[in-house]
Amino acid sequence: MIDITSFETLDKAISLAGGEPTVLEALWDGNTTGWYLYLNLHVTIKRLFFSKKEIRYIGKISLGGDIRLFNKIVPPWPEAELAKEWGKMANEKYGLIFYFPSDKEPDSNCPRWEQRHWGIQCADCAKIIIPTDSPYLPKDICYNCYLTREFNNKIKNAEPNDNGVNLYMVKDEEYIYLGYSSSLDGFPIAPFITEIVQARREKRLVDIVTLEERDISIIKEKIEQALDQKVAVYKSAEFSPDFPQNFKRNIKRLTVEYKGNRYELIEQLCKEHSKIGSLVRALETVDNAISGDYCFNFYFKNGFNHRDDAVLRFVNFVSNGSTSISAIVQRYNGILNETEVRDTITKMEEVGCLTIEGEIVQTTDITRKLL
Ligand SMILES: [Zn+2]
Repeated sequence: MIDITSFETLDKAISLAGGEPTVLEALWDGNTTGWYLYLNLHVTIKRLFFSKKEIRYIGKISLGGDIRLFNKIVPPWPEAELAKEWGKMANEKYGLIFYFPSDKEPDSNCPRWEQRHWGIQCADCAKIIIPTDSPYLPKDICYNCYLTREFNNKIKNAEPNDNGVNLYMVKDEEYIYLGYSSSLDGFPIAPFITEIVQARREKRLVDIVTLEERDISIIKEKIEQALDQKVAVYKSAEFSPDFPQNFKRNIKRLTVEYKGNRYELIEQLCKEHSKIGSLVRALETVDNAISGDYCFNFYFKNGFNHRDDAVLRFVNFVSNGSTSISAIVQRYNGILNETEVRDTITKMEEVGCLTIEGEIVQTTDITRKLL
């Protein structure tokens, strides 16, 4: 697969394709590393007494994986911008048609150039799509627009959204981010802290629970007790599943150390090994906190809805932490009215997630820790 990385590489690929270029098409496809655009060139080959049409695959535009989907910002899909620019240049140079049915976001349901007559226009974004045959999806819009509608409905209906807990190691003003989990159970130290953390929750809209040095020492003891029990029976049958010899050689192993002894773990294949691994990691976290004089802070949402979450994310990520009320009203135009936007902003101000000065809205430190 040739990587198209500039107009020059595209231009070279077009001239090497042979024949007279008539249509350049850019279509999305995905693999395990993410979405990419592949480019087909339709050419007419003229001979003395006949001419024939052919389609040549000439390369792909690929700028990396789907990691950007996790940065919480609407994905910008720069490869689409590049394709549009180079497509326009190819059109000017060769007079060919540049066909790019989904030029804003990835969509593998768009018709190819030759199928375009079977396509319909998405009722929301006007993109040409092959209607879905799924009985669960609307036929008149593309999948992206369907997801957008679903998401907007959650905002409109103020559906609850308390998902997500963030954990930090904290000392004075220093915050070290330890991770996010959709619920408290997802953290390796969960079995040892859930009771104490839940008991300390005040059920305010933003709940911050702190575990102090003394709590952390108790947690450490509990983790060690659990680990002592596990490693005592490490050699028992349950811990040493028998696999065929040639299979054994390819198993991924991890060696951990605990109280001066080393244990070889095959976590993917043995539940008990995976528990030891998880306990060792929990102990590491706790040891780091103790040796550095840190405490743990858990950030919970409690009574948030999709409006609150969407507005906070818009101000914090899309607007880099500061924007005007009118910009927020504008952003949710058609989904929320101005009163609903103002009510949401006021609610978020009251819980300390936003500050409002005149027309300017800014996110706070709490928001940045919470999202
Ligand atoms: Zn659409």
